[in-house]
Parts: sequence; structure tokens; C-alpha cells
Amino acid sequence: MNNEQNKIPQATAKRLPLYYRFINNLHHQGKLRVSSKELSDAVKVDSATIRRDFSYFGALGKKGYGYNVEYLLSFFRKTLDQDEVTKVALIGVGNLGTAFLHYNFMKNNNTKIEMAFDADPNKVGSDIGGVPVYHVDDLEDHLINTAVAILTVPSTEAQGITERLVDAGVSGILNFTPARITVPDHIRVHHIDLSVELQSLVYFLKHYPLEEEAGD
Ligand code: ATP
Repeated sequence: MNNEQNKIPQATAKRLPLYYRFINNLHHQGKLRVSSKELSDAVKVDSATIRRDFSYFGALGKKGYGYNVEYLLSFFRKTLDQDEVTKVALIGVGNLGTAFLHYNFMKNNNTKIEMAFDADPNKVGSDIGGVPVYHVDDLEDHLINTAVAILTVPSTEAQGITERLVDAGVSGILNFTPARITVPDHIRVHHIDLSVELQSLVYFLKHYPLEEEAGD
């Protein structure tokens, strides 16, 4: 991310990849402009929020015209560093880890899992979805210029692996284990616990049913 990012509120920054994906699709379809209503319907963010977000990007929609797709796209590319591929490592090639290795992240953004690590000798040395699997003992030898790591190890292993990742220079961790990991202040952790998310959805369905006509 470049420094321009500092001026954008965090809540807005979180929506950037969402906007980017949609605008990129419009660009591929050859569309030159988009209205905030169209955007709002597609990304499910209300149009007032979209207008406020876009004003931070220096994109001021014109009445009856909307936003210029080319301008937005070049802003998002620059801000999200889309011209540069971010190298990602994955630790723990179990069921979930294997699925990620097969998933083509490059489709929507410029992140690429370049290498994976596991402790299981049966998995080490293999190649899954074009990604080499190394032994976790050799983590530090391979993690050069790798900014981001995805953690899909058993939760008991999460903290130990995290400390090694931080020492090796990783600055962002996407934690898919149920463990709440502790990191120094300069390291960013995003935590996705799929079973908690699912349980939460089921709870909300039961206790906070949505009305048919209710808006967002
Ligand atoms: P599987 O059925 O392949 O074991 P799983 O997702 O149910 O998948 P988990 O027990 O969650 O298995 O482990 C995930 C992966 O993490 C496994 O491939 C396991 O070998 C690996 N693993 C376990 N400990 C470590 C470690 N310390 N470092 C790296 N990888 C590890």
C-alpha cells in the first residue's frame, strides 16, 4: 500500500478491494462510467457511503454521468498496489490449506501463494496447485521478501509458527485457526474463524430474522 492510503479511513479502506473487483469487471465489459446506484446494487453498500468513500479517492461523481471507470480503476490499482504481486506463504497444508492452494487468488487481485509449508513428511516435497510444499523446519530459509502468511495449521501450533513468521519478516497474517494469536504492535493479523462465522449466521437467522421488505 502506498502512503495515500493513510488519508483513507480504515472502514473505507476495507471496502477498497470490493470496489476494485466490481470496477475491474465493468472495465473488462468496456463500460466507461458507473452510477452510485449501480455500484450500490452490485456491492451492497448504500449509495451515501459509496459517495463518501469515493470522495476520499478524489472521485467526484457528476449528476447524470456517474463515475469515470478508468479513473477509479487507475486509483484502485495504484492504491492497492495492483501492479506489484504480493508474495504469500501458506503454513499447514491440511484440508483447508490444500483448498487455498488450488484456489486462483490472482483472478481478482494480485496476490499469489508462492510457497507452502507443512510438518508432515508425506506432504513435504509435493507440489499442490503449482505451489511447492517445503518442510516447516526450513521456513526461515524460504521466507525472503514474503509479506503475508496464511495460517491453516492446527490451533495448538498457531502461536509458535506466528512467532517464527514475525521473526522472518512477515508483516501480515491471515489466521484461519481458532487460536487468538499474540503479535507485536507492528504486525497486522486478520482472523477468520469459519466455524464461528457459520455458527453466528445460524444464530442470527434464528434470533434476528430479516423482514421481507426491510432495507439494509
Ligand atoms: P488433514 O486431514 O490433511 O490432516 P486437517 O485440516 O484436518 O487436514 P489439521 O490437523 O488441521 O488437519 O492440520 C492442518 C495441516 O497442518 C496438516 O497438513 C498438518 O500436517 C499441518 N501441521 C501440523 N503441525 C504443523 C506445524 N507445526 N507446522 C506446519 N504444519 C503443521
